[in-house]
Amino acid sequence: MNQFQYVRPTKSQAAIEAVAKDPNATFIAGGTNLVDLMKRGIATPQKLVDINRLPLNKIERENNGLRIGALALNATVADDKQVRERQPLLAQALNAGASAQLRNMATVGGNMLQRTRCSYFYDLAMPCNKREPGSGCGALEGINRMHAIFGFSDKCIAVHPSDMSVALVALDATVLVTGPKGERRIPFADFHRLPGDTPEKDTNLEKGELITAVDIPDGPFTKYVHYQKVRERASYAFALLSVAAALDIENNTIKAARLAMGGVAHKPWRLTAAEQSLVGKPATEASFRQAAEVAMQGAKAFKYNAYKLKLGPNTIVQALRTAASAA
Ligand code: SF4
Repeated sequence: MNQFQYVRPTKSQAAIEAVAKDPNATFIAGGTNLVDLMKRGIATPQKLVDINRLPLNKIERENNGLRIGALALNATVADDKQVRERQPLLAQALNAGASAQLRNMATVGGNMLQRTRCSYFYDLAMPCNKREPGSGCGALEGINRMHAIFGFSDKCIAVHPSDMSVALVALDATVLVTGPKGERRIPFADFHRLPGDTPEKDTNLEKGELITAVDIPDGPFTKYVHYQKVRERASYAFALLSVAAALDIENNTIKAARLAMGGVAHKPWRLTAAEQSLVGKPATEASFRQAAEVAMQGAKAFKYNAYKLKLGPNTIVQALRTAASAA
């Protein structure tokens, strides 16, 4: 691990300035991904700005919704009474992620900033455009069974690893950030990026911008929800593929639907056309199967991940079926 400076400011403005002014500085909170990246020599910051002393860990009612501070721990959010009652999909997605130990360290802000688990990204002997722009992509012709089926480019086919982010994009969350130019609100669907020609950039955050909170608007998705995660072992594994499903059902008719997938793209993948296809339909297997077909339009597999083309629709149907019977 390279040597680095370490500072612990108590004011947000001081933290932002410390990172904005130094091209080799970065924020650290729980450190559950960043420290791994540093140990392996993938991230080599020369200054760590520890933000754990900033007052950003509250979960509170705000603007007809929930505001969750960026430093709230994943475990705390998943166990919070308001979150479980008002946004149970988020609680389920958080509990599907990582392990109990990691959820007790990892923060909400850090969770959405975690980097891909593409094995070539972590292997310094292999080319990787995300780690070293212009070096190539080891996964394109490599073992790409964990990789994307939507939204990829010829520069990168990695997927975003967060479970929490799949629920947040489905729930129309907004990310609140403060930076050198002031505050701004980023719709969650615009927070992460597709790889295009710049896969080294995971998000639309600018240098020095600090995530302060996430806003989730109240909605009708308090009963019929389900986060379905398919993985290779029962816990502490990243998703091969996941589906966040939320329904508003009245007299067996779907009034509104939310659907998003994880493990399929460089960002959490919202399925708006499939959502629309469900509105006004009965909550039946046939409706769910039709939505799954709509959802998978445009999917394209690589040599080792063609199984996702079948696993995707089956997981969507299973998530919707379980959500519809969840109340
Ligand atoms: Fe790197 Fe992306 Fe290729 Fe993985 S898929 S090796 S992260 S460029």
